[in-house]
Formats: sequence, C-alpha cells, structure tokens
Amino acid sequence: MALITKAVKGTLDVLPADSHKNQFVEKTVLEIANEFGFREIRTPVFEHTELFTRSVGDTTDVVQKEMYTFEDKGGRSITLRPEGTAGAARAFLEHGLTNEAMPQKVSYITSCYRYEKPQAGRLREFHQFGVECYGTASPAADAEVISVANEVFGFLGIDRIRLEINSIGCPKCRKEYHAALKAYFESRKGELCGTCLDRLDRNPMRILDCKSPVCHEIAADAPIILDFLCDECKEHFEKVKMYLDNMGIVYDVNPHIVRGLDYYTRTVFEFLTDSLGAQSAVCAGGRYDGLIEEIGGSHVPALGFGMGIERLLLLLEAQGIQLPEAKKCEIYIANIGEEASLKAASMATELRQSGMFAEFDVVGRSLKAQMKYADKIGARFTTVIGEDDIKANIAKVKNMQTGEITELAIDDFADTFMELSLQNAASDLQDLVSNSEAIDLSKFLGGIM
Ligand code: ATP
Ligand code: MG
Repeated sequence: MALITKAVKGTLDVLPADSHKNQFVEKTVLEIANEFGFREIRTPVFEHTELFTRSVGDTTDVVQKEMYTFEDKGGRSITLRPEGTAGAARAFLEHGLTNEAMPQKVSYITSCYRYEKPQAGRLREFHQFGVECYGTASPAADAEVISVANEVFGFLGIDRIRLEINSIGCPKCRKEYHAALKAYFESRKGELCGTCLDRLDRNPMRILDCKSPVCHEIAADAPIILDFLCDECKEHFEKVKMYLDNMGIVYDVNPHIVRGLDYYTRTVFEFLTDSLGAQSAVCAGGRYDGLIEEIGGSHVPALGFGMGIERLLLLLEAQGIQLPEAKKCEIYIANIGEEASLKAASMATELRQSGMFAEFDVVGRSLKAQMKYADKIGARFTTVIGEDDIKANIAKVKNMQTGEITELAIDDFADTFMELSLQNAASDLQDLVSNSEAIDLSKFLGGIM
C-alpha cells in the first residue's frame, strides 16, 4: 500500500535515533538561561492575527509574505506564530506581570511557522529558543541578553561564530534617517524591486533588509543609521559596547544590520557563522522599547533574542561537535516460557520503579532473537530467566561489555542489580579519569543523563 501523503514541505520529523540531540540542546539552553534568571514561559501556537501585524509590523516580509493565517470556524483571523516575542509580550501584559518585580525574564522553546522557500536551515516549521527581558532600559541588560546566547555557544563548544551588533536608534532619530534613506533610494528608484518600491514610502528601512541581490547592492551604499543617532541612543550604544568589552564578549559593529521585524529599537544583534552556507544567522535579537506599548500596555522597555534550534543542531554537526549519546538500556531481561515472561514483567516493573531503564521481551520471540534485540539496543547488562532460574531464585546477569557474569537473587533483584550497575558506572568513571588524555565526555554524560 502506498503512503497516502507525505510530510508537508518545509517540515521536519525528528526520529527516535536523533531526538536525544534535540532534547539535550533544549535542556541545555533552558538551563543556561535559568542561570541568568530567565524562567520558562509557554504560549499558544496560534494568536489573533493583529498581534503579529501590530508587533512584527505590516511592512515586514514576515507579515506580508510568510505568515500562516486562516479564519477559524468562529470567523476570527488566526495566525500560527512566526516568532516568539509577540506571544510572550501578550502573555506578559495579559497576566499583569507588569506588576511583578522588574526585570521580568522569560525563556522559551517554541515552534514557529513561516511560509518560506524551504532549503537547508530554512524551514516552514522551525523552532526557536528565545529569551525576553522586560522592564529595563539599561545597556547592562542588552549585554546580559547577548551574553546568554554567547554562553550557549561557548558551552556547546561552537567556534567560528561571530557577533555583530548595531543600533537602529529610537523613533526620534530614525525620522531623520528615514528621510535621508528615502532621498537616497528615490535617486535609484528605477532599479528597486516592486516590493521595495512599495517600501519606499511606507518604511524605507525595510529596503535594507531586502533579499533581492540588486536591492541588496543598492543598499550597501545607503546612508547608515549610526550617523543619525540622537545623543541618548549614541550613549546607550557606547555603554552596551563597554559592558560587552567588560564581559570579554567579542563583537563587530555592522551598521547594515536592521533586522526583519519592525519592533526593534536601539541595539540589534546577530550571531553569524560561515559553517551553514547561505543560512548564516543562528541567533538574532535586540531591544524593542516600543513593543509593549504598541500592543496595548504602558511603556515597558524590553529586549530579547531568538535562536534557531535546527540551525544550531546543523551547526553542531557541521563543526563535528559530539553531543551526549542517548541513554542506553541498563538491563534486558530475556525469558523462556510463560512463567518466566510473567516473572520478567514483574522484575522490569520493580527496576523501573527504582528509576532504572529496563526492558523485557514483549514480542514472544525465541531466545536467540531476544538476545539479538538486546545487542541491537546496546543493553549494558542482560539476563535470561527460565523456570529453573525462578525455582533456584538466581538470575545470572551478564555485563555485555566485559562478559562477566554475576549471580543475583531474583526476589531481591531491583536492589542488588542497582548496586551492580552503580559499581559498573563507577569503574567506567575511573577508567575515564585515568584515561583523561582521551576523555570522551559525551559518552559518560550520555550514560548518566
Ligand atoms: P533569516 O535572515 O535567515 O531569514 P530572520 O532574520 O528571518 O533570519 P529571525 O526572525 O530573527 O530570523 O529569527 C531568529 C532566528 O530563527 C534566526 O536567526 C534563525 O536561526 C532562525 N530562523 C528564522 N527563520 C527560520 C526558518 N525559516 N527556518 C529555520 N530557522 C529559522
Ligand atoms: Mg527570515
């Protein structure tokens, strides 16, 4: 029978053989964020469309071309979130977190949906790790948010990644900049793409973010925002740089970064890599002091970033960084006959209740086939239970790596096996330490994760 349909274009399945990598990365990034005081927030996959048109901005590519918008059965316009900031900001306001101690720091891992041309590192459903920090206008917060991402890359051992920062000012200094940009692009109007012609009146800064090669080339000679910053924005930017220097975070100022979402003010930044071809941005973010007001709150300066999980995983792979292996089955209980099968079931239950990863045969296969399966799943120990073993109250446990056999009492199996398995882990650790030249920490971490 043929499969009736395949996965939707631009979506990924994460299969059991790989999911431990996603789990490890997701757990790691949330834990790192936690060390900075960011606590997880979870918001819905879909929101009312106006949340995104107002916050992301209706002149951006994301809103104009990329959103999955539909009418629900109640006639409401609903959109699958294209990014995480707007939903988190909505929840922050809706639940009165403005009344809590500031700053409020939240983190999340969310799926995002954008109708884009799928290619390596560019999907229609992807995931972002994000952090948002509400209620501080201080440049120290900009540096702190940047340092979360920096810490993630450092912890995971990623190199050849560079941080680029810029300031895109506030609405006050941007007014003058818009006028200068408009004058410049007017002079080359004939060469701009159709979308950018439209942007010329509505939001000339968007032209700087156009992906068409011709517009991109024209944009390279456009006036830069840094020459138009007001004194406050200039001072803010200088201080962000001072904090970054102080934290030992290396960066380049790139005056051409404008970011593809409208809500940004002042600091914007991107972490870029050459290891991923065209999809070079792994993390991007900035300050958005006007967003909370834009969606109906009071003035709450805020900032954050989004990091693409799939791109992060691709980057780890491209740089040959080994992640901890998946946790392996600690013991496989093979069994012969119905009585032994029932005994194996109760032994496995006790082991699992003690927190051990245990499996027994649930297929009813031959002993040979059971052992083949145990080998395939990489069980650390195996035991074979038959009627005679039950009578004698003895289970012969085999260490699959060394071949060593240990006899344990079946009626006290969970406790005694746990001891054996801990001893084994301890001697693995000892080997690891005495072999410290060739530590493969990933294997050890995988075992205890
Ligand atoms: P790009 O310039 O690559 O289109 P972007 O500016 O649209 O990125 P943001 O909206 O800032 O990206 O999202 C933050 C991060 O999310 C990006 O740096 C990237 O790692 C990831 N990301 C964005 N779009 C996609 C996508 N379609 N597929 C996979 N990851 C994505
Ligand atoms: Mg994009």
